[in-house]
Amino acid sequence: LIVVACAGLGIAGVVVSEYWISAMLVDGGALLATVGAFVGARRRHGRVRRAWLLLAAGLLLWLVGDLIWDAYAIRDSEAPTLSPADIAYFIAYPLMVFAIWRMLRIRSPRGNREVVLDGLALAAAGALASWEFLVQPNSYAGMPWSERVVAAAYPLGDVLLLTALSWLAFSPGVRTRAAGYLYAFFGVTLALDIGYALFPRFATTAGWIDYVNSFYPLAYAFLAAAALQGDAGDLTAPAPNVSGRLHPARVMFLAIALLTAPALDLVEVASSPDRMASVAIGLLITIAVLGRFFLVVRDREAARQQLEFQASHDTLTGLLNRHLVADRIDHALARGSRAAGGDPGAGVAVLYVDLDRFKAVNDSHGHDAGDQLLVEAATRLVAAVRAGDTVARLGGDEFAVLCEDLPERQTVFDIADRIVDALSRPFTMEGGGVAVVSASVGIAVPDGPEASGEDLLRDADAAMYRAKEAGRDRWEVFDAAMRDWVAARRDTETALAGAIDRGELRLLYQPIVDISDGSIAGFEALLRWERPGHGVVAPNDFIPLAEETGLIIPIGEWVLTEACLQAARWNREFMDRPLHVSINVSGRQLNQANLRDTVERAVHGAGIDPECVTLELTESMLLDDADWALAQLESVKRLGVRIAIDDFGTGYSALSYLRLFPIDVVKIDRSFIADLGAMAADTTVVAAVIALSHALGHQVVAEGVETADHLAALVTLGCDQAQGYFFAKPITTAEATARLRNAQRRSVADLLAKLREPA
Ligand code: C2E
Ligand code: MG
Ligand code: MG
Repeated sequence: LIVVACAGLGIAGVVVSEYWISAMLVDGGALLATVGAFVGARRRHGRVRRAWLLLAAGLLLWLVGDLIWDAYAIRDSEAPTLSPADIAYFIAYPLMVFAIWRMLRIRSPRGNREVVLDGLALAAAGALASWEFLVQPNSYAGMPWSERVVAAAYPLGDVLLLTALSWLAFSPGVRTRAAGYLYAFFGVTLALDIGYALFPRFATTAGWIDYVNSFYPLAYAFLAAAALQGDAGDLTAPAPNVSGRLHPARVMFLAIALLTAPALDLVEVASSPDRMASVAIGLLITIAVLGRFFLVVRDREAARQQLEFQASHDTLTGLLNRHLVADRIDHALARGSRAAGGDPGAGVAVLYVDLDRFKAVNDSHGHDAGDQLLVEAATRLVAAVRAGDTVARLGGDEFAVLCEDLPERQTVFDIADRIVDALSRPFTMEGGGVAVVSASVGIAVPDGPEASGEDLLRDADAAMYRAKEAGRDRWEVFDAAMRDWVAARRDTETALAGAIDRGELRLLYQPIVDISDGSIAGFEALLRWERPGHGVVAPNDFIPLAEETGLIIPIGEWVLTEACLQAARWNREFMDRPLHVSINVSGRQLNQANLRDTVERAVHGAGIDPECVTLELTESMLLDDADWALAQLESVKRLGVRIAIDDFGTGYSALSYLRLFPIDVVKIDRSFIADLGAMAADTTVVAAVIALSHALGHQVVAEGVETADHLAALVTLGCDQAQGYFFAKPITTAEATARLRNAQRRSVADLLAKLREPA
């Protein structure tokens, strides 16, 4: 608006013939621009405001000069050669250049030697050219000293403007609209000054000079527009000091500067052919050396770009890496807030994508296959998002997606749906195998003006954990409550890491009873964490975390060792019949190539008969990667231990797997037992599982037997063993030992009673 107004006033000034009205119009434009520049400057703060005020002060000086000039003209009095108007004009030039230099200093506090030097080189070339074309041609013969100064001072001022212009251009940083207007200001002023100098500057009356004059308000208005821009603050925002880069384009500019002198020389000696040859050859040498220099810089620049790409991108997938993505988000937030008129990061969302069960693929298929899967996952991710969105790999199996310009909230949910779908499709590996993973996705949107890229990533990460916790293969949106949850989770992780060493882990034992005679056949070892300040923590509350963090490996080893030792102790004390111990093994342990060694160490270390040790695994662990699981189980089984399928019926229940895997025991999940008798369908299922298992030679254990009715039904169905609250909850070692002693006493009593019976 201000640009149009000032241009209009200036042009109106030319159209009007009455000098004083015309002068008023033009000066009015200049005044408007000056006021605008001051208003804009006052919106900034501190050093930045002072720099903008300096620029505005320059305009004010020019306006003062214009007014003085007009005063002479209107009063028709001859201005002195070095008038107060000239002095006002002259002071403004260095003032403005100083202001720009200050701005650059604020932007890169550590200095910008390269920018300053490059700017000086270009400005010096400009000075040379203006000396040749603007100053020299004027005839100074007989001119008084003061006139000569004035004649030389304006071109010098323009050299200063050129310096400021090239500093602006050479200094890197955000491409702001404010910077654009500043270019326009310096550029137009420079052009007008040159236009002014090209014509006899003492002809103050109408004609050419008036046209030139009438455009100055337009030039001033560009400065006002720059100062008034909303993004003027970004111009002085701290920028990384990359200005030292000798970009090929920069070399071109410097080459122009370097060639100015010899080129001008060439023009000068055009009339004397003998000197011409040497100057031309000199020019040729300079061009050749410059060309060589240019090639070196170009190669170096290419190498640098390559390095930069490598530093900012993930080598495996070619996606952006973690370093850059937070930066990108920051930019998106700033951009979004400008576009939406201050609404911070409107339309911006960050998705944190983590592959579920990727480690299993890596452990079992090998790292090459894992890499291959990651590359394919990256491709699918890119395909699942919109063209303008950014996909980055944060490391391992974690990715981030930055969505911008989202028209509405729903769009990001649709994108999350697509990502979850895309990654749950099976991956075909090079060797022909198939791997199945899924994705847990966390979504975060900026919740305040001070949200940063790192904040959003952290929130999205928290939401992703929530998605994992909620069962994986889904997405969750971050909310503030999650932040506490994440902090608590991190505490738990730290505490759990030291739990073994501090002796906070305990095993409870739940009896497994023989249905034929009600005797204790063995125990299932069930883990408890006595966490100081938190009481006794149940396994479901910390084993998932232990699995994710890998802590399950040392914990699992501790459980194996401890349970085997205890079972061996019982077997030494109660020698009449061998007691079994059932030990739960997690998927993470099954993926461990040294599982067999770990089990062997525990069993041999305790000196227990391997026959008495049962490892419990769940169906889903076997199905994750059947080939690997089969190989692992066969190798473990060679030690002589037994294998049980835990929670049977809750997984995929692929019955063929009962035949495929070397299984000894099937444990029917307690959800089927709970409705035994009440629900005909469940009874039928249990009956079928028992029949099928028996047909395959497996033993059947019913879990969660809570009532006499349950037991009665199981007796009828021919189940082998039972476990549940009806017999006992998980109990301590001492309680378990006491029960065994009681049972022994009772059986001895029974025996004695039988012996005393009259024949
Ligand atoms: P699980 O292996 O299926 O163990 C049986 C769970 O059912 C135990 O819960 C037990 O207390 C509970 N339970 C037993 N009888 C009844 C009953 O009659 N009614 C009801 N409602 N529940 C009954 P717990 O001890 O909380 O363990 C939960 C799960 O944690 C276990 O399920 C097992 O998968 C896992 N777990 C326990 N200890 C370990 C361990 O040392 N290592 C690993 N990897 N996992 C473990
Ligand atoms: Mg179990
Ligand atoms: Mg179970």
